[in-house]
Amino acid sequence: MAQKSGATSRTLLQRLRDTLAEDGDGQERLDHITVLVSESMEAQVCSVYLRPDRQTLELCATEGLNKSAVHQTRLRVGEGLVGRVAKQAAPINTENAPQTKGFQYMPETGEELYSSFLGVPIQRLGEVLGVLVVQNKDMRKYDDDEVYALEVVAMVIAEMKELGAFTGEGEAMTAPHQRAHLFKGGAAQEGAARGVVLLHNPKIVITNPVADDPEIEKKHLREAIDQLRLNVNDLLNASQSAGKEQQEVMEAYRMFANSRGWVSRLEANIDSGLSAAVAVEKEQSATRARMSRVPDPYLRERLHDLDDLSNRLLRLLTGQGRAASDKVPDNAILVASNIGPAELLEYGKNIKGLVLENGSVGSHATIIARAWAIPMVIHADNITREALNGDEILVDGDQGVVHLRADDTVVAAFKDKIAMLAKAQQKYAAIRTEPAVTLDGVRVGMQMNAGLMADLPSLISSGAEGVGLFRTELQFLLRNSMPKRSDLAELYARVFEAADGKPVNFRTLDIGSDKVLPYLQPEDEPNPAMGWRAIRVGLDKKGVMSMQLQAFMRAANGRPLRVMFPFVAQFDEFRAAKAMLDKVLENEKRLGHIVPSEIKVGAMLETPSLAFAPDQFFEMCDFISIGGNDLKQFFYAADRENERVRRRYDTLNVSFLTFIEQIAARCDLFETPVSFCGEDAGRPIEALCFVAMGLRNLSMRPASIGPVKHMLRKTNLEEARDVINEARASGQQSVRGAVVKWLNDR
Ligand code: PEP
Ligand code: MG
Repeated sequence: MAQKSGATSRTLLQRLRDTLAEDGDGQERLDHITVLVSESMEAQVCSVYLRPDRQTLELCATEGLNKSAVHQTRLRVGEGLVGRVAKQAAPINTENAPQTKGFQYMPETGEELYSSFLGVPIQRLGEVLGVLVVQNKDMRKYDDDEVYALEVVAMVIAEMKELGAFTGEGEAMTAPHQRAHLFKGGAAQEGAARGVVLLHNPKIVITNPVADDPEIEKKHLREAIDQLRLNVNDLLNASQSAGKEQQEVMEAYRMFANSRGWVSRLEANIDSGLSAAVAVEKEQSATRARMSRVPDPYLRERLHDLDDLSNRLLRLLTGQGRAASDKVPDNAILVASNIGPAELLEYGKNIKGLVLENGSVGSHATIIARAWAIPMVIHADNITREALNGDEILVDGDQGVVHLRADDTVVAAFKDKIAMLAKAQQKYAAIRTEPAVTLDGVRVGMQMNAGLMADLPSLISSGAEGVGLFRTELQFLLRNSMPKRSDLAELYARVFEAADGKPVNFRTLDIGSDKVLPYLQPEDEPNPAMGWRAIRVGLDKKGVMSMQLQAFMRAANGRPLRVMFPFVAQFDEFRAAKAMLDKVLENEKRLGHIVPSEIKVGAMLETPSLAFAPDQFFEMCDFISIGGNDLKQFFYAADRENERVRRRYDTLNVSFLTFIEQIAARCDLFETPVSFCGEDAGRPIEALCFVAMGLRNLSMRPASIGPVKHMLRKTNLEEARDVINEARASGQQSVRGAVVKWLNDR
């Protein structure tokens, strides 16, 4: 092997730069590159495979394989070693290719002669455009420097603007951008908005991927990083007034922006011959590839924060993209692959809606969108490829649907929907302070679910009678370290103050499953939803639960306190948790702290087993809250996070409704107050059926209170019960059809 270490890539890049500067079309350049690479790396073969569409890889240039195979040999992504490199977005390095898993022999190329194989993805910002391969006859494993050098060359190829002609991008940039498109994604925040597309991070064009002088590039990089740090500090200062949650998010950003590891990786890329901008892109591609492989949603979100920082740095280095000072157009709907909380905050509250290709319901960006109450749709696949700045866009956050460049009929229908929603809002506002009483006089308690400080103003605006579920874990998830008891006490005291005497059910930490705290050792569990979570963690990690119970008591400061334990599966768990609470209370008294005037202790019924607990459980428990999201997933054995099975079983299925009826009856028997706080409580038809089954308290998202209350106030419960009973007796699987028909006929 000739030169090694950074020198391999530096020399190679110098020669590449000269090649790229020469006249010639894309094919000539690719041909030239393969010759250069094979010479410099003493490889007998160098080939470039590119992706004319999402599924296919085509041999586009080669030095060493049969030239006649160029533009003839095609394989699918995932097929053969080359296909696997593209699929995994990671290199494959083997001295014995024919014996390596997935090897597939392409006779027309003549590659049977070559034993060793090194393939790296050609990727731009995490999108795999193709694969760059070197091969040798003798059995040899390419060393780390060689892998790195080939990756660096792949970065430069990815920047070639002629590549569009091979990868189908050139064509993708034109015709399809005229047509109407419907994107079916997931609902992250309800509401509807009509506006114009504002693309977050439109593509940045890099003109010179190779560093002329690494020292100058490093200087540019350092200046840009200094500026980036200043910007992050400004954002942090600006977030002071926005509440603790947003500050926490920005603190995490500052930590990343000051990370030495990140900066030294970028500098190493420049030392290998890349320009500062491509050095950032290389690191960013690696982050994105890691993002797609990390199963843990929390870690994925943190990697995304890092990706967000790289975007900012790229904008600073290239002077392209949207500057922070640019005015957000009126009616802007932000469209992004994914977005970090800092970037979202920078756009400000002026944006009318948010559409993401990725994203998750629990991400920081979603938390902010919810606080701003703007409609948001996630998982709108490929929308950033289709949408252009200024395109008309309709976002339906209720259905999780987005219309791009919709035709006149759809626009007209959507306008009607927005007008109807506005009218409905007026209707709901008019009954805000009225009770939820059915036509036949049954009174239903309407409470709201909360978890963020930003939710608290809704206590007044929604007309909620209290907080039926305060998800305390959200505060833990937003931090980088375990919060202190005093911080929590201060936070909970603000909740008490906002509630102004209305009851608040503080739920103890419900972590585990999809809610992973970064500062607790993650558990590698085969089925986390059924694993070590919620009260199971609380009972095993007594320090954390006691600390939280203490914080509740101190925040109550002599007021009545309501605490509930999540995911109680059997009586003993409740007994043990209550004993812990009693012990903390005794301790507080002994220490001379003011204790709550009374404490009501409840349990969440989220596993079918608890419905069949001994009578003594119902006697001991001060109140029960049905966590329908979890209860339903365990009742049907259908993962609530799995889109494939999530909607398979209807909430209004006769079995589930009958189960709810039995729980309500059992609680009645012992006069144990019971409410329902899962998402279904916020759906008017479901809510009506639950009330018909005997529930008298519901807790839901603040925005759902108006619609549910409206439904209940218009309905005769006795009649609703008859309709449900008739449907049950007739052997139907779900009562939905009968109930909907009855409501429509009325
Ligand atoms: C539930 O399971 O219904 C519930 C309210 O709790 P969470 O959604 O937070 O698990
Ligand atoms: Mg739950």
